[in-house]
Parts: sequence; C-alpha cells; structure tokens
Amino acid sequence: MSKPTIVTVDDDPLVSEAITRDLRVRYGAEFRIVRTTSGPEALTVLAELVLKDRPVALIAADQRMPRMTGIEMLEQARVHAPDAKFLLLTAYADTDVAIRAINDIGLDYYLLKPWDPPDERLYPVVDDLLDDWRHEHPDHTSDVRVVGHRWSDRSHEVKNFLARNHVPYRWLDVERDDEGGRLVELAHAEPADLPLVLVPDAETLRAPTTLDLAERLGLRTRPEQPLYDVCIVGGGPAGLAAAVYAASEGLSTIVVEREAPGGQAGQSAAIENYLGFPKGLSGSDLTQRAIAQVSRFGAEMVLARDVVGFETRGPVRAVVLGGSGEIEARAVIVASGVAYRRLDADGLDDLTGRGIYYGANATDAPQVEGEDVYVVGAANSAGQAALNLSRHAKRVVMVVRSGTLTDTMSRYLVERIVASPAIEVRYRTEVAAARGDGHLESLTLVDRDTGVRDEVDASWLFVFIGASPRTEWLGPGVVRNDRGFVITGQDLLREERSSGWPLARSPYALETSVPGVFAAGDVRLDSMKRVASAVGEGAMAVYLVHRYLATT
Ligand SMILES: Cc1cc2nc3c(=O)[nH]c(=O)nc-3n(C[C@H](O)[C@H](O)[C@H](O)COP(=O)(O)OP(=O)(O)OC[C@H]3O[C@@H](n4cnc5c(N)ncnc54)[C@H](O)[C@@H]3O)c2cc1C
Repeated sequence: MSKPTIVTVDDDPLVSEAITRDLRVRYGAEFRIVRTTSGPEALTVLAELVLKDRPVALIAADQRMPRMTGIEMLEQARVHAPDAKFLLLTAYADTDVAIRAINDIGLDYYLLKPWDPPDERLYPVVDDLLDDWRHEHPDHTSDVRVVGHRWSDRSHEVKNFLARNHVPYRWLDVERDDEGGRLVELAHAEPADLPLVLVPDAETLRAPTTLDLAERLGLRTRPEQPLYDVCIVGGGPAGLAAAVYAASEGLSTIVVEREAPGGQAGQSAAIENYLGFPKGLSGSDLTQRAIAQVSRFGAEMVLARDVVGFETRGPVRAVVLGGSGEIEARAVIVASGVAYRRLDADGLDDLTGRGIYYGANATDAPQVEGEDVYVVGAANSAGQAALNLSRHAKRVVMVVRSGTLTDTMSRYLVERIVASPAIEVRYRTEVAAARGDGHLESLTLVDRDTGVRDEVDASWLFVFIGASPRTEWLGPGVVRNDRGFVITGQDLLREERSSGWPLARSPYALETSVPGVFAAGDVRLDSMKRVASAVGEGAMAVYLVHRYLATT
C-alpha cells in the first residue's frame, strides 16, 4: 500500500521550506510530504494523486497567497481530497477569517505563524489531526482482516467492536471481494466459521466471541489486583472522567466496560456542544483522548466484560463479571449509562443486525453508499445520524412520530436537516413492519393520521427512540425509580423511599442507597443526558468517593 500524502501549500519560499522540513522530520517515515508553492499548483497535484488512488491525509496551506487564498484553495481541494484534514497557517490578523472557515469549509485547525518550537506548537496539532485521519481510514494502516457476509449480525458486531475499540481493520465481503472468497477457501472455513478474523502472527479466529477477539488483540480483559479503591462500571464519558480524576488523585482505579470505551458518545459522528472544541469533535476522537488520559494516569481498563451482579460485603463492594470473576473495591461508581429502547414492530427482531440497527456508529456511514436509508427518531442522536449518513446515502428518510422536529431536536440540527436535499422527513409516521429474506428488504410505514400503509424498499434502518438505563445488574439493594434510573442524594430521603438509606448521615449528592456506591451520568435519575454533564458528574463522584473513604 502506498504511503498517504501530506501536501504543503505556500508561496513564501522561507515559510514553505520551513513547514515542509518540519513535517518531513516528524512524519516522513509514514507519509509522503509534497511541497507546492501556489493554490493552483496544489490543486493540480491533488488531481494527480486522485488518479493514482493515493490517499491525502493532510493539506497545510498558508492563508495569504497572491493568486488564491489558502481558504479558497482548501475549498476546492475538498473535491479531490474529501477526507483530508485541513490546516491553515495564518497571521494573527486573519483569525476571524479562519474561525469562519471552520463552519464554511470544514477547516480542522488554524495555526498562527510562526510555529516555533514545532515540538510544542506544530506537532501536537498535527499528531491529533493525523490520528483522527488514521482512525477514519483504517484500511491504510490495517493488518487485521475480517471476512464475512455483509448482512451477518455477527460480522456487524465484530466490525463494530473493532471500530469502537479503535482497532484498524479491513473488511472483506465473501460475496463481493475475491480476496475474501480466497481467504475462506485457504482457511477451509465452513459457513458457521464466519466471520473469520485474521490477526497477524496469530491463528485465524472463527466466529469469535467478543471476549475471544479482545484477548487475541491483546486488550486487557481481567483485573490485575484483588482489591481497588474504586471500581467504575461503564466506560462512557462519565466513567472515563471518573477514572481520570480518581487515578490522577492517587486512588487505585479500575474501569469495567462491556463493549468499548466511549459509550453512547463514542458513537456520535459530531459532538458540537462540548466546551473547548469550537469545530466539534467526533465521539471517537473524544474517546481516544480520554483513553490516553486514563492510561496516562494509570487507571486499569478491563474491556469486553459485562458486569452482571453487585454485592455488599461489609466495607467492601463487589461487582460480579459475566462468565467468571469479580472485582472488589472500597467504593463503586455506577456509570453504566443507557441503552436504546427497542422498536416494537412486526419482523424487526429477526432482522436486527441484518440491516436494522439500534444506534449508528460514525463508521457505519460508508456502508450505505448510494442506497436509501431510514432513520427512526426525532431527538439529537437521530438528527446527527441522519446528517452523517446523508454524506454517503442516496437518500435518508427520517421517520418521525410527531408533527415537528423542533420540540425534540436542537435548532442547529433541525436547520441542517431541513436544508439538506438528501434528507426527507416523514412526519406523523411509524414503522409497522419489516420484511426480508436473511436481511432487511422492505418496511411498512403507516401514516398515524390516515392509517394509510406504505410498503417501501429498504436495506437499512437505524433506530434512535430513546433509552432505558442499564441497571438490572445492581440487584434490589440499589434503589431505582420505576423506569430503572438510579436515585441518588437528597432524592433518597423523600419520604416514600427513605427506608433505603441506612446511615445517620445524609447521602452525598451522587450517592446511591448503598453507602460508598455512587452514580454518575445518564444512568442517574434526573441527569441531563449530555456529554458535559456526564463528564462533570464523573469528576464529582470522585470527590465524593474521597469524602466517603475518609469516613470508613
Ligand atoms: C448518537 C448519539 C449522539 C449524541 N450526541 C451528543 C452531543 O452531540 N452532545 C451531547 O452533549 N450529548 C450527546 N449524546 C448524549 C451523550 O452521548 C450521553 O449523554 C453520554 O454518553 C452519557 O454518558 P454516560 O457515561 O453516562 O453513559 P454512556 O455513554 O451510556 O456509557 C455507558 C457505558 O457503560 C457500559 N455498560 C453498560 N452496562 C454495563 C455493564 N453491565 N457492564 C459493563 N459495562 C457496561 C456501556 O457499554 C457504555 O459504554 C449523544 C448520544 C448518542 C447516542
């Protein structure tokens, strides 16, 4: 596979040489660095790269150039390099223009000149941009191969697990890719063996469980210590934030995550309202940054393990792992978030994982290239998914029960959906049935006012219809409301529930009915259901853990 390319564009010979040299020193081994000295020259070079099927990872352009500004050039470059990261080199006076370009042309970053020393001012920025690019283009760096059927639910789960754990992989469809068929033959694989997962220097995995896969990839799946200060259940934003604060403050910390770190936020294509990221950032980017922080502070993270039970043993709290094993800790933070509610319609369960999916990963979008896609739901998560899928789908149809989106979705998303020619919204409509032989082929939509039924061809349905908390594993000891959300703090003392709280002192703000067990994020009753609030509650839970441990 050829090296991906970084293109520099600058008419000033000194600046041009400096940026090209600095990029070559650090990234030359992995990327080809191509220097151009004007916008038109850069566009010609980019067109040639397209013809040679050479991927472009980054374009670093100076804003002030006489024939064509950096922003004008980058805007045109999108056609040739739709997925490249854009870095604009600017003078202080151009800051306003650069900020506008974030929205107008999808500029990823602007860097004020000069960038000395590059170790502090250039490389951290470019490292981040290239990391993002690599994760969006696993094919170019990947050695893991997954061979399976396009409509197999198990193949989907394996791909989902790899993508969400940031393991680059190459997908080979047995029916469409010759190499896929060849590998199946070479492995003498039977249909029941699919998907095959080929990991370099290791035996081929046949229809692996998530735990097998995680172990083969070298991910940690078992705790190392007999007892921790704090065990965090769930590796979404709340759990990861709690891990960062707990470990950085010296608590021995373990996080248990059943799927992949990042939680719901990890599936978001663009989180635009998280403080400090004016251009927004993808859930996968946020997750990676968080994982790096968690490991830097020394918290342990156990993956692909499901917590299925909880016990109180005197001062020790224990969580029971599915399969076998348990983790003991002096305090527990419940950060297990919420899971999508199931859509109740004829035929849906049989086709789930075979064209029907709950939630959508940003990485699902390229699969729907050129096809019609249906999205059920009217909240922000459905809106974000519709916009992301519309970048690849021929058409996205949003199926919405109510007569408007504005009551349930942020205005900025509604505006983009309405403006998008690729998205159609069918208001006052429900999915009544799904049909297909082995995978989704058609949906029955019903007009809620007239009762008129419409049978439409469909291969893809993504469902976002609200969520219920993942708290069954807590057992009866930890008090929840009738929908399963964990009740914390002063809410526990309300008369009808007071029997749950055993101590003379009042519970701390995020403490549950079991002292020393705290809840943070979406799983908690009356939480805000946002990334920022989950992160805030994760951090605050650690402060309360300290107070609790000081009294025991
Ligand atoms: C598609 C989408 C887009 C979104 N976009 C935005 C946005 O732009 N801005 C915003 O502010 N919010 C957004 N949200 C909401 C935001 O993602 C959530 O509020 C946030 O992720 C909640 O974090 P959490 O850690 O509380 O829970 P979650 O993110 O739900 O994480 C919980 C984690 O716990 C794990 N887990 C659950 N049960 C167990 C168990 N028994 N054992 C082990 N692990 C377990 C799960 O696998 C999961 O990883 C979006 C949500 C979705 C679905």
